[in-house]
Amino acid sequence: MLLSVIIPMLNEEEICLRTYETLEKVLKDVEHELLFVDDGSTDRTRELLLGAIPEGSANRVISFSRNFGHQAAFSAGLDQAKGDAVAIIDGDLQDPPELILDMLAKWREGWQVVYGQRRARAGEGLFKKLTAAGFYRSLRLFTSVDIPVDTGDFRLMDRVVVDVLKSLPERSRFLRGLVPWVGFRQTGILYDRAERTAGETKYPLKKMLKLAGDGIASFSSLPLRLSLWIGLVAAGLGGLLAVWAVVSKFALDGTVPGWTSLLIAVVFLGGVQLITIGVMGEYVGRIYDEVKQRPLYVLRKDSPAPEEKR
Ligand code: UDP
Ligand code: MG
Repeated sequence: MLLSVIIPMLNEEEICLRTYETLEKVLKDVEHELLFVDDGSTDRTRELLLGAIPEGSANRVISFSRNFGHQAAFSAGLDQAKGDAVAIIDGDLQDPPELILDMLAKWREGWQVVYGQRRARAGEGLFKKLTAAGFYRSLRLFTSVDIPVDTGDFRLMDRVVVDVLKSLPERSRFLRGLVPWVGFRQTGILYDRAERTAGETKYPLKKMLKLAGDGIASFSSLPLRLSLWIGLVAAGLGGLLAVWAVVSKFALDGTVPGWTSLLIAVVFLGGVQLITIGVMGEYVGRIYDEVKQRPLYVLRKDSPAPEEKR
C-alpha cells in the first residue's frame, strides 16, 4: 500500500526542511511518496527541498512557473500522486503530521475520506478566528452540500475519491466543497491546530476573500436568487409607495411634498440594481473563466536563465 502526501509550499524556506524531516519521521513505517508542490516560491524553498531529497527517493518537488494558488497546488499533487491513499497537509506544520497515521487507521477501517476538523486554533489572532468561523458557517448557510465546519484541506482520501476529483471538468476548484460533494464514506477526526512555527501566513485577507467567494459561488446560486428576492421586495415597496401617493393626492387631498421621497426611491432602486448586476457579474465572470479552459497550473520547465544562455 502506497501513501502519497501532497504538501503545498509557497516561500516556506524557514520551515520546509523541518516539515520534510518530520513527515519522514512520522511515516517511517509506511510506504510513501512526498509530493512537495512549490507554488512559485521566490525564495530558496525549491532548492532546499531538491537538495534534501536523496537520489532514488520516491519524493518529488513539483514546481509551478508562478504562484497559481493553494487550490491549484492540490490539483497538481492529485494529478501526480500514485498512492492508494492520498493525504494533503499544509507545509507549515500547523496540521500535526502524526494525525496522518490516525487517518490511515480510519482509512483501513473502510472510510474513504478522513478529514481533520479543527477543535482549537493556537496562536491565530481574533480576526482570523472570527473570519474563519464566519466563513465556514456562512458557507453552510449558502450551500446545499454538507460541508463540515472548521475543516481545512488537511485530509486523507482513497484512490477512488481522488480519481473522481481528477475527472471533474471544472476549473474553479474549491476542494473543501468538492470532496464532500463527491460523497462516499467520509468521517472526521478532531484535532488542535498548532501555531505556525516559522514564517508567516501566505493567506492575506485578499486571498481569504477570494477563497470565500470561490467557495460560495461554486457551490451555491443562492446569491442570484437572493437578488431576485431583493428585487421583488423593492418593486413591492415601490408599488405600495405609488398607491400611497395616489391615495394621498385624491382622497386625502395632499400631494406628497418635496423631492426627498423621490430621491430615496431612486437611490434605493439604483442600489438594488447595481447589487444585482454585481452578483450576476460574479457568476458571469466565473462562466468566462470556465469557458476559457486554461489549464489550472503551468509546470516550471528548467531551461537556462537568460544570462546563462549565450
Ligand atoms: N500556500 C500555497 N500557495 C498560496 C498560499 C499558501 O502553496 O498561494 C501554502 C503555504 O505554503 C502553506 C499552506 O499553503 O504550506 C497553507 O498556507 P498558510 O499557512 O499561509 O495559511 P494559513 O494556515 O495561515 O491559513
Ligand atoms: Mg498555516
